[in-house]
Amino acid sequence: MNLHELNIGEALKLLKKKAISSVELTRAVLDRIDDVEEKVGAYITVATESALDQAKLADKAISEGNVSPLTGIPLAIKDLICTKGVKTTCASRILENFIPPYDATVIKKLKQAGAVVIGKTNMDEFAMGSSTENSAIKRTRNPWNLTRIPGGSSGGSAAAVAADMCLGALGSDTGGSIRQPASHCGVVGMKPTYGRVSRFGLVAFASSLDQIGPLTKNVGDSALLMNAIAGYDASDSTSVPMDRPDYTSSLDDGLKGFRIGIPGEYNATEGLHPEVLAAVENAIKTLEDMGAQRVEVSLPHTQYAVAAYYVIAPAEASSNLARYDGVKYGLRDKNQNSLMEMYKSTRSKGFGPEVQRRIIIGTYALSAGYYDAYCGKASQVRTLIIEDFKKAFETCDVILSPVAPTPAFRIGEKTDDPLTMYLSDIFTLSANLAGIPGIAVPCGFSSEGLPIGLQIMGKHFDEETLLKVAFNFEQATDFHKKKPMFPG
Ligand code: GLN
Repeated sequence: MNLHELNIGEALKLLKKKAISSVELTRAVLDRIDDVEEKVGAYITVATESALDQAKLADKAISEGNVSPLTGIPLAIKDLICTKGVKTTCASRILENFIPPYDATVIKKLKQAGAVVIGKTNMDEFAMGSSTENSAIKRTRNPWNLTRIPGGSSGGSAAAVAADMCLGALGSDTGGSIRQPASHCGVVGMKPTYGRVSRFGLVAFASSLDQIGPLTKNVGDSALLMNAIAGYDASDSTSVPMDRPDYTSSLDDGLKGFRIGIPGEYNATEGLHPEVLAAVENAIKTLEDMGAQRVEVSLPHTQYAVAAYYVIAPAEASSNLARYDGVKYGLRDKNQNSLMEMYKSTRSKGFGPEVQRRIIIGTYALSAGYYDAYCGKASQVRTLIIEDFKKAFETCDVILSPVAPTPAFRIGEKTDDPLTMYLSDIFTLSANLAGIPGIAVPCGFSSEGLPIGLQIMGKHFDEETLLKVAFNFEQATDFHKKKPMFPG
Protein backbone atom coordinates (compact mmCIF):
# COMPACT_ATOMS: atom_id res chain seq x y z
CA MET A 1 0.00 0.00 0.00
CA ASN A 2 1.09 3.55 -0.69
CA LEU A 3 1.83 5.30 2.59
CA HIS A 4 -0.18 8.40 1.66
CA GLU A 5 -3.29 6.24 1.40
CA LEU A 6 -3.16 5.30 5.08
CA ASN A 7 -5.73 6.69 7.45
CA ILE A 8 -4.69 8.01 10.86
CA GLY A 9 -5.57 4.86 12.82
CA GLU A 10 -3.59 2.62 10.45
CA ALA A 11 -0.59 4.94 10.36
CA LEU A 12 -0.45 5.19 14.16
CA LYS A 13 -0.20 1.41 14.44
CA LEU A 14 2.61 1.19 11.86
CA LEU A 15 4.50 4.09 13.46
CA LYS A 16 4.25 2.55 16.89
CA LYS A 17 5.54 -0.80 15.60
CA LYS A 18 8.33 1.14 13.85
CA ALA A 19 7.27 -0.52 10.59
CA ILE A 20 7.37 2.98 9.07
CA SER A 21 8.86 6.27 10.21
CA SER A 22 7.13 9.63 10.36
CA VAL A 23 9.73 11.03 7.95
CA GLU A 24 8.83 8.31 5.41
CA LEU A 25 5.15 8.95 5.89
CA THR A 26 5.54 12.72 5.67
CA ARG A 27 7.69 12.42 2.54
CA ALA A 28 5.10 10.12 0.97
CA VAL A 29 2.40 12.70 1.60
CA LEU A 30 4.62 15.52 0.27
CA ASP A 31 5.28 13.44 -2.88
CA ARG A 32 1.58 12.86 -3.29
CA ILE A 33 0.99 16.61 -3.00
CA ASP A 34 3.67 17.16 -5.66
CA ASP A 35 1.91 14.68 -7.94
CA VAL A 36 -1.67 15.91 -7.72
CA GLU A 37 -1.68 19.49 -6.39
CA GLU A 38 -1.68 20.93 -9.89
CA LYS A 39 -4.97 19.17 -10.58
CA VAL A 40 -6.67 19.49 -7.20
CA GLY A 41 -5.36 22.82 -5.90
CA ALA A 42 -5.95 22.00 -2.24
CA TYR A 43 -3.04 23.86 -0.66
CA ILE A 44 -2.15 27.52 -0.28
CA THR A 45 1.06 26.73 1.58
CA VAL A 46 2.95 23.45 1.78
CA ALA A 47 5.22 23.66 4.83
CA THR A 48 7.78 21.15 3.55
CA GLU A 49 10.70 22.05 5.77
CA SER A 50 8.90 22.53 9.05
CA ALA A 51 6.84 19.40 8.39
CA LEU A 52 10.01 17.31 7.89
CA ASP A 53 11.53 18.86 11.04
CA GLN A 54 8.42 17.94 13.02
CA ALA A 55 8.49 14.43 11.52
CA LYS A 56 12.12 13.99 12.61
CA LEU A 57 11.19 15.03 16.13
CA ALA A 58 8.29 12.57 16.05
CA ASP A 59 10.64 9.74 15.02
CA LYS A 60 12.99 10.67 17.83
CA ALA A 61 10.11 10.61 20.31
CA ILE A 62 9.01 7.19 19.02
CA SER A 63 12.53 5.78 19.28
CA GLU A 64 12.64 7.01 22.89
CA GLY A 65 9.32 5.33 23.63
CA ASN A 66 7.71 8.71 24.09
CA VAL A 67 4.57 8.28 22.00
CA SER A 68 1.67 10.76 22.14
CA PRO A 69 -1.78 10.14 20.60
CA LEU A 70 -0.92 11.58 17.16
CA THR A 71 2.84 11.27 17.06
CA GLY A 72 4.13 11.50 13.50
CA ILE A 73 0.76 12.04 11.73
CA PRO A 74 0.79 14.63 8.87
CA LEU A 75 -2.28 16.86 9.01
CA ALA A 76 -3.50 19.77 6.88
CA ILE A 77 -4.90 22.95 8.40
CA LYS A 78 -7.46 25.32 6.89
CA ASP A 79 -5.73 28.59 6.19
CA LEU A 80 -7.66 30.62 8.74
CA ILE A 81 -6.23 28.85 11.78
CA CYS A 82 -3.12 30.66 13.01
CA THR A 83 0.15 28.76 12.69
CA LYS A 84 3.22 30.40 14.21
CA GLY A 85 5.76 31.21 11.51
CA VAL A 86 3.60 29.78 8.70
CA LYS A 87 1.51 32.11 6.51
CA THR A 88 -2.19 32.28 7.38
CA THR A 89 -3.97 34.04 4.54
CA CYS A 90 -7.70 33.29 4.95
CA ALA A 91 -7.44 33.02 1.13
CA SER A 92 -7.62 36.82 1.08
CA ARG A 93 -5.42 39.46 -0.54
CA ILE A 94 -5.67 41.45 2.67
CA LEU A 95 -3.80 38.76 4.65
CA GLU A 96 -1.78 37.34 1.75
CA ASN A 97 1.53 37.83 3.54
CA PHE A 98 0.39 37.54 7.14
CA ILE A 99 2.60 35.33 9.31
CA PRO A 100 1.04 34.80 12.75
CA PRO A 101 3.31 35.30 15.76
CA TYR A 102 1.50 32.55 17.67
CA ASP A 103 -0.22 29.17 17.27
CA ALA A 104 -3.98 28.78 17.67
CA THR A 105 -4.90 26.64 20.66
CA VAL A 106 -5.89 23.74 18.39
CA ILE A 107 -2.47 23.87 16.72
CA LYS A 108 -0.73 23.89 20.10
CA LYS A 109 -2.82 20.89 21.07
CA LEU A 110 -2.09 19.02 17.84
CA LYS A 111 1.63 19.68 18.26
CA GLN A 112 1.48 18.51 21.88
CA ALA A 113 -0.19 15.35 20.58
CA GLY A 114 2.78 14.87 18.23
CA ALA A 115 1.11 15.73 14.90
CA VAL A 116 2.98 17.13 11.90
CA VAL A 117 1.51 20.23 10.20
CA ILE A 118 2.01 19.56 6.51
CA GLY A 119 0.44 22.72 5.14
CA LYS A 120 -2.40 25.21 4.94
CA THR A 121 -5.42 24.54 2.78
CA ASN A 122 -7.44 26.65 0.40
CA MET A 123 -10.86 28.00 1.34
CA ASP A 124 -13.43 30.62 0.45
CA GLU A 125 -12.07 34.04 1.43
CA PHE A 126 -12.64 34.46 5.18
CA ALA A 127 -14.72 31.24 5.04
CA MET A 128 -17.52 33.01 3.19
CA GLY A 129 -18.85 30.61 0.59
CA SER A 130 -19.94 27.08 -0.20
CA SER A 131 -17.67 26.15 -3.08
CA THR A 132 -14.14 27.49 -2.39
CA GLU A 133 -14.60 29.60 -5.54
CA ASN A 134 -14.37 32.74 -3.39
CA SER A 135 -10.68 32.11 -2.70
CA ALA A 136 -8.59 35.04 -3.86
CA ILE A 137 -5.56 32.76 -4.14
CA LYS A 138 -6.45 29.73 -6.25
CA ARG A 139 -9.07 27.27 -7.45
CA THR A 140 -9.70 23.93 -5.75
CA ARG A 141 -11.30 21.10 -7.69
CA ASN A 142 -13.27 18.11 -6.46
CA PRO A 143 -11.00 15.03 -6.63
CA TRP A 144 -14.01 12.90 -7.69
CA ASN A 145 -14.59 15.03 -10.75
CA LEU A 146 -12.28 17.91 -11.56
CA THR A 147 -15.07 19.91 -13.23
CA ARG A 148 -16.91 20.12 -9.89
CA ILE A 149 -16.49 22.27 -6.82
CA PRO A 150 -15.15 20.57 -3.68
CA GLY A 151 -17.72 22.38 -1.52
CA GLY A 152 -16.79 25.11 0.88
CA SER A 153 -15.62 26.90 2.66
CA SER A 154 -13.18 24.21 3.89
CA GLY A 155 -12.89 22.88 0.31
CA GLY A 156 -9.10 22.61 0.37
CA SER A 157 -9.15 20.51 3.55
CA ALA A 158 -11.88 18.20 2.21
CA ALA A 159 -10.19 17.77 -1.18
CA ALA A 160 -6.80 17.15 0.49
CA VAL A 161 -8.27 14.37 2.65
CA ALA A 162 -10.18 12.82 -0.28
CA ALA A 163 -7.12 12.87 -2.56
CA ASP A 164 -4.77 11.44 0.11
CA MET A 165 -2.76 14.67 0.25
CA CYS A 166 -2.80 14.47 4.08
CA LEU A 167 -3.99 11.91 6.61
CA GLY A 168 -6.59 14.23 8.12
CA ALA A 169 -7.35 17.92 8.34
CA LEU A 170 -8.91 20.70 10.35
CA GLY A 171 -11.60 22.97 8.97
CA SER A 172 -13.98 25.51 10.41
CA ASP A 173 -17.75 25.50 10.25
CA THR A 174 -19.90 28.63 10.61
CA GLY A 175 -22.85 27.45 8.56
CA GLY A 176 -21.76 24.11 7.14
CA SER A 177 -18.19 24.67 6.01
CA ILE A 178 -16.86 21.39 7.39
CA ARG A 179 -19.86 19.15 6.74
CA GLN A 180 -20.79 20.32 3.23
CA PRO A 181 -17.31 19.96 1.64
CA ALA A 182 -16.84 16.66 3.51
CA SER A 183 -20.07 15.45 1.93
CA HIS A 184 -19.09 16.63 -1.57
CA CYS A 185 -15.66 15.02 -1.31
CA GLY A 186 -16.81 11.73 0.25
CA VAL A 187 -15.04 12.14 3.61
CA VAL A 188 -16.11 12.48 7.25
CA GLY A 189 -16.51 16.01 8.65
CA MET A 190 -17.57 16.96 12.15
CA LYS A 191 -18.74 20.30 13.53
CA PRO A 192 -18.51 20.06 17.31
CA THR A 193 -20.87 21.81 19.74
CA TYR A 194 -20.28 25.56 19.99
CA GLY A 195 -17.86 25.93 22.90
CA ARG A 196 -16.40 22.42 22.67
CA VAL A 197 -13.25 23.35 20.75
CA SER A 198 -11.29 26.51 21.41
CA ARG A 199 -11.57 29.27 18.82
CA PHE A 200 -8.47 31.05 20.09
CA GLY A 201 -6.34 31.70 17.01
CA LEU A 202 -9.16 30.99 14.57
CA VAL A 203 -9.58 34.09 12.42
CA ALA A 204 -13.11 35.21 13.27
CA PHE A 205 -15.91 35.20 10.69
CA ALA A 206 -19.12 35.07 12.77
CA SER A 207 -18.09 34.59 16.37
CA SER A 208 -21.38 33.19 17.70
CA LEU A 209 -21.38 30.46 15.02
CA ASP A 210 -17.74 29.53 14.25
CA GLN A 211 -16.37 26.15 15.37
CA ILE A 212 -13.22 24.23 14.41
CA GLY A 213 -13.52 20.52 13.65
CA PRO A 214 -11.90 17.54 11.91
CA LEU A 215 -12.16 16.23 8.33
CA THR A 216 -10.99 12.64 8.08
CA LYS A 217 -11.00 9.48 5.99
CA ASN A 218 -13.21 7.66 8.51
CA VAL A 219 -15.13 8.11 11.76
CA GLY A 220 -12.51 6.55 14.02
CA ASP A 221 -10.00 9.18 12.85
CA SER A 222 -12.53 11.91 13.58
CA ALA A 223 -12.73 10.65 17.18
CA LEU A 224 -8.91 10.65 17.41
CA LEU A 225 -8.69 14.26 16.24
CA MET A 226 -11.54 15.32 18.52
CA ASN A 227 -9.64 13.81 21.46
CA ALA A 228 -6.69 16.02 20.54
CA ILE A 229 -8.48 19.33 19.94
CA ALA A 230 -11.54 19.41 22.24
CA GLY A 231 -11.57 20.80 25.75
CA TYR A 232 -11.69 23.97 27.78
CA ASP A 233 -9.34 26.82 26.96
CA ALA A 234 -9.06 29.87 29.21
CA SER A 235 -8.03 31.94 26.16
CA ASP A 236 -11.48 31.54 24.55
CA SER A 237 -14.22 32.97 26.76
CA THR A 238 -16.85 30.97 24.87
CA SER A 239 -15.08 27.67 25.44
CA VAL A 240 -17.05 25.60 27.95
CA PRO A 241 -15.34 24.31 31.11
CA MET A 242 -16.28 20.66 30.73
CA ASP A 243 -14.10 17.57 30.68
CA ARG A 244 -13.96 15.98 27.28
CA PRO A 245 -14.75 12.28 27.08
CA ASP A 246 -12.54 9.78 25.27
CA TYR A 247 -14.33 9.91 21.92
CA THR A 248 -12.85 6.60 20.81
CA SER A 249 -14.17 4.59 23.73
CA SER A 250 -17.87 4.17 22.86
CA LEU A 251 -17.68 4.05 19.07
CA ASP A 252 -18.78 0.47 18.68
CA ASP A 253 -21.59 0.41 21.24
CA GLY A 254 -24.57 -0.84 19.23
CA LEU A 255 -27.73 0.98 18.20
CA LYS A 256 -30.42 -1.24 19.74
CA GLY A 257 -33.33 0.84 21.00
CA PHE A 258 -31.69 3.97 19.71
CA ARG A 259 -34.08 6.63 18.38
CA ILE A 260 -33.26 8.37 15.10
CA GLY A 261 -35.33 11.47 14.40
CA ILE A 262 -36.38 12.24 10.82
CA PRO A 263 -37.55 15.81 10.28
CA GLY A 264 -40.42 15.82 7.79
CA GLU A 265 -39.62 19.37 6.69
CA TYR A 266 -36.13 18.47 5.53
CA ASN A 267 -37.07 15.79 3.10
CA ALA A 268 -39.77 17.99 1.59
CA THR A 269 -37.23 20.72 0.87
CA GLU A 270 -37.57 22.29 -2.55
CA GLY A 271 -34.54 21.60 -4.72
CA LEU A 272 -33.58 18.38 -2.91
CA HIS A 273 -32.02 16.11 -5.54
CA PRO A 274 -33.87 12.76 -5.81
CA GLU A 275 -30.62 10.79 -5.65
CA VAL A 276 -29.64 12.56 -2.43
CA LEU A 277 -33.05 11.80 -0.93
CA ALA A 278 -32.79 8.14 -2.00
CA ALA A 279 -29.29 7.76 -0.51
CA VAL A 280 -30.42 9.27 2.80
CA GLU A 281 -33.54 7.07 2.87
CA ASN A 282 -31.31 4.02 2.31
CA ALA A 283 -29.05 5.15 5.13
CA ILE A 284 -32.04 5.40 7.46
CA LYS A 285 -33.05 1.85 6.49
CA THR A 286 -29.51 0.61 7.17
CA LEU A 287 -29.64 2.12 10.66
CA GLU A 288 -33.11 0.65 11.26
CA ASP A 289 -31.78 -2.77 10.25
CA MET A 290 -29.15 -2.34 12.94
CA GLY A 291 -31.79 -1.89 15.62
CA ALA A 292 -32.40 1.85 15.58
CA GLN A 293 -35.95 3.08 15.80
CA ARG A 294 -37.26 5.71 13.39
CA VAL A 295 -39.13 8.63 14.97
CA GLU A 296 -40.79 11.41 12.98
CA VAL A 297 -39.88 14.85 14.31
CA SER A 298 -40.69 18.39 13.27
CA LEU A 299 -38.36 21.38 12.88
CA PRO A 300 -40.91 23.90 11.62
CA HIS A 301 -38.65 26.96 11.71
CA THR A 302 -35.98 25.40 9.52
CA GLN A 303 -37.50 27.21 6.57
CA TYR A 304 -36.32 30.52 8.06
CA ALA A 305 -32.78 29.35 8.86
CA VAL A 306 -31.17 30.57 5.63
CA ALA A 307 -32.72 34.03 5.99
CA ALA A 308 -31.76 34.33 9.67
CA TYR A 309 -28.22 33.05 9.09
CA TYR A 310 -27.57 35.42 6.19
CA VAL A 311 -28.38 38.34 8.48
CA ILE A 312 -26.59 37.16 11.64
CA ALA A 313 -23.40 35.89 9.94
CA PRO A 314 -22.81 39.04 7.81
CA ALA A 315 -23.62 41.28 10.79
CA GLU A 316 -20.97 39.59 12.92
CA ALA A 317 -18.57 39.48 9.98
CA SER A 318 -18.91 43.18 9.24
CA SER A 319 -17.89 43.90 12.81
CA ASN A 320 -15.09 41.29 12.93
CA LEU A 321 -13.60 42.44 9.64
CA ALA A 322 -13.38 46.07 10.76
CA ARG A 323 -9.92 45.24 12.11
CA TYR A 324 -8.45 45.00 8.59
CA ASP A 325 -7.83 48.69 8.18
CA GLY A 326 -4.28 48.61 6.82
CA VAL A 327 -2.87 49.95 10.08
CA LYS A 328 -1.72 47.09 12.30
CA TYR A 329 -1.23 44.20 9.90
CA GLY A 330 -2.10 42.91 6.49
CA LEU A 331 -2.31 44.83 3.25
CA ARG A 332 -1.95 48.64 3.23
CA ASP A 333 -2.32 50.85 0.17
CA LYS A 334 0.55 53.27 0.77
CA ASN A 335 -0.24 55.51 -2.19
CA GLN A 336 -3.07 57.43 -0.55
CA ASN A 337 -2.90 60.94 0.85
CA SER A 338 -5.35 60.76 3.73
CA LEU A 339 -6.21 58.19 6.38
CA MET A 340 -9.76 57.85 5.02
CA GLU A 341 -8.50 57.26 1.48
CA MET A 342 -6.03 54.68 2.81
CA TYR A 343 -8.80 52.77 4.63
CA LYS A 344 -11.05 52.86 1.61
CA SER A 345 -8.49 51.81 -0.91
CA THR A 346 -6.92 49.11 1.30
CA ARG A 347 -10.28 47.49 1.96
CA SER A 348 -11.42 47.80 -1.66
CA LYS A 349 -8.25 46.16 -2.93
CA GLY A 350 -7.90 43.67 -0.08
CA PHE A 351 -11.40 42.16 0.07
CA GLY A 352 -12.99 40.18 -2.75
CA PRO A 353 -16.57 40.72 -3.98
CA GLU A 354 -18.32 38.22 -1.66
CA VAL A 355 -16.57 39.58 1.44
CA GLN A 356 -17.52 43.12 0.42
CA ARG A 357 -21.11 42.00 -0.13
CA ARG A 358 -21.25 40.51 3.38
CA ILE A 359 -19.74 43.62 4.96
CA ILE A 360 -22.36 45.77 3.24
CA ILE A 361 -25.28 43.48 4.17
CA GLY A 362 -24.02 43.19 7.74
CA THR A 363 -23.41 46.89 8.22
CA TYR A 364 -26.88 47.66 6.86
CA ALA A 365 -28.54 45.07 9.12
CA LEU A 366 -26.73 46.48 12.15
CA SER A 367 -27.47 50.14 11.41
CA ALA A 368 -29.65 51.95 13.94
CA GLY A 369 -32.69 52.30 11.69
CA TYR A 370 -32.76 48.66 10.59
CA TYR A 371 -31.38 46.76 13.57
CA ASP A 372 -34.77 45.66 14.96
CA ALA A 373 -36.16 44.70 11.57
CA TYR A 374 -33.14 42.54 10.64
CA CYS A 375 -30.77 41.57 13.45
CA GLY A 376 -33.51 41.63 16.09
CA LYS A 377 -35.84 39.50 13.97
CA ALA A 378 -33.05 37.10 13.01
CA SER A 379 -32.13 36.48 16.63
CA GLN A 380 -35.79 35.80 17.47
CA VAL A 381 -35.85 33.23 14.67
CA ARG A 382 -32.64 31.78 16.04
CA THR A 383 -34.36 31.24 19.41
CA LEU A 384 -37.27 29.49 17.69
CA ILE A 385 -34.84 27.18 15.89
CA ILE A 386 -33.13 26.35 19.20
CA GLU A 387 -36.57 25.57 20.69
CA ASP A 388 -37.42 23.34 17.71
CA PHE A 389 -34.34 21.22 18.32
CA LYS A 390 -34.95 21.03 22.09
CA LYS A 391 -38.44 19.75 21.47
CA ALA A 392 -37.33 17.28 18.80
CA PHE A 393 -34.62 15.86 21.06
CA GLU A 394 -37.27 15.02 23.67
CA THR A 395 -38.33 12.13 21.43
CA CYS A 396 -35.10 11.14 19.66
CA ASP A 397 -31.37 10.75 20.30
CA VAL A 398 -30.09 12.08 16.97
CA ILE A 399 -31.60 13.78 13.94
CA LEU A 400 -30.76 12.68 10.39
CA SER A 401 -30.87 14.71 7.20
CA PRO A 402 -29.00 15.23 3.96
CA VAL A 403 -25.88 17.41 4.24
CA ALA A 404 -26.34 19.26 0.96
CA PRO A 405 -29.38 19.37 -1.33
CA THR A 406 -27.42 18.20 -4.41
CA PRO A 407 -24.13 16.44 -5.16
CA ALA A 408 -21.18 18.74 -5.96
CA PHE A 409 -22.18 21.25 -8.63
CA ARG A 410 -20.12 22.45 -11.59
CA ILE A 411 -17.40 25.04 -11.15
CA GLY A 412 -18.92 28.39 -12.10
CA GLU A 413 -22.52 27.12 -11.93
CA LYS A 414 -23.59 29.34 -9.04
CA THR A 415 -21.02 32.11 -8.93
CA ASP A 416 -23.31 34.67 -10.57
CA ASP A 417 -26.19 34.01 -8.22
CA PRO A 418 -25.32 34.43 -4.54
CA LEU A 419 -28.82 33.45 -3.39
CA THR A 420 -28.65 30.02 -5.05
CA MET A 421 -25.21 29.58 -3.53
CA TYR A 422 -26.60 30.47 -0.08
CA LEU A 423 -29.28 27.80 -0.49
CA SER A 424 -26.55 25.11 -0.60
CA ASP A 425 -26.40 25.53 3.17
CA ILE A 426 -30.04 24.84 3.84
CA PHE A 427 -29.46 21.62 5.83
CA THR A 428 -26.35 22.65 7.72
CA LEU A 429 -27.02 26.20 8.98
CA SER A 430 -29.53 25.26 11.66
CA ALA A 431 -26.96 23.31 13.68
CA ASN A 432 -24.76 26.43 13.86
CA LEU A 433 -27.67 28.67 14.80
CA ALA A 434 -28.62 26.21 17.58
CA GLY A 435 -24.99 25.52 18.57
CA ILE A 436 -25.47 21.73 18.34
CA PRO A 437 -22.96 19.27 16.88
CA GLY A 438 -23.30 17.69 13.44
CA ILE A 439 -21.31 15.15 11.48
CA ALA A 440 -21.29 14.32 7.76
CA VAL A 441 -20.57 10.74 6.70
CA PRO A 442 -20.50 9.26 3.19
CA CYS A 443 -23.80 7.49 2.43
CA GLY A 444 -23.84 6.95 -1.32
CA PHE A 445 -22.92 8.08 -4.81
CA SER A 446 -24.93 9.81 -7.50
CA SER A 447 -25.39 8.21 -10.92
CA GLU A 448 -22.52 10.46 -12.04
CA GLY A 449 -20.25 8.97 -9.38
CA LEU A 450 -20.28 11.95 -7.02
CA PRO A 451 -20.30 11.34 -3.25
CA ILE A 452 -23.43 11.98 -1.16
CA GLY A 453 -23.34 12.63 2.58
CA LEU A 454 -25.62 11.88 5.52
CA GLN A 455 -25.84 14.44 8.31
CA ILE A 456 -26.29 13.31 11.90
CA MET A 457 -27.07 16.07 14.39
CA GLY A 458 -27.12 15.63 18.16
CA LYS A 459 -27.73 17.30 21.48
CA HIS A 460 -25.32 19.91 22.84
CA PHE A 461 -22.02 18.29 23.88
CA ASP A 462 -23.17 14.86 22.72
CA GLU A 463 -20.52 14.35 20.05
CA GLU A 464 -19.98 10.87 21.45
CA THR A 465 -23.40 9.75 20.30
CA LEU A 466 -22.92 11.25 16.83
CA LEU A 467 -19.62 9.46 16.46
CA LYS A 468 -21.18 6.23 17.65
CA VAL A 469 -24.04 6.36 15.12
CA ALA A 470 -21.64 7.41 12.36
CA PHE A 471 -19.21 4.62 13.26
CA ASN A 472 -21.94 1.97 13.29
CA PHE A 473 -23.19 3.21 9.93
CA GLU A 474 -19.69 3.19 8.49
CA GLN A 475 -19.09 -0.37 9.68
CA ALA A 476 -22.21 -1.50 7.86
CA THR A 477 -21.35 0.24 4.58
CA ASP A 478 -18.48 0.57 2.09
CA PHE A 479 -18.87 4.14 0.86
CA HIS A 480 -15.88 5.44 2.83
CA LYS A 481 -13.60 2.83 1.26
CA LYS A 482 -14.01 4.12 -2.29
CA LYS A 483 -11.32 6.46 -3.56
CA PRO A 484 -11.45 8.98 -6.38
CA MET A 485 -9.49 7.97 -9.47
CA PHE A 486 -6.78 10.18 -10.96
CA PRO A 487 -6.79 11.74 -13.43
CA GLY A 488 -10.48 12.36 -12.77
N1 GLN B 1 -21.60 28.82 3.19
C1 GLN B 1 -21.84 29.55 4.41
C2 GLN B 1 -21.44 30.99 4.25
O1 GLN B 1 -20.99 31.33 3.19
C3 GLN B 1 -21.14 28.89 5.55
C4 GLN B 1 -19.69 29.15 5.58
C5 GLN B 1 -19.00 28.54 6.75
O2 GLN B 1 -19.50 27.65 7.40
N2 GLN B 1 -17.83 29.11 7.04
O3 GLN B 1 -21.56 31.78 5.14
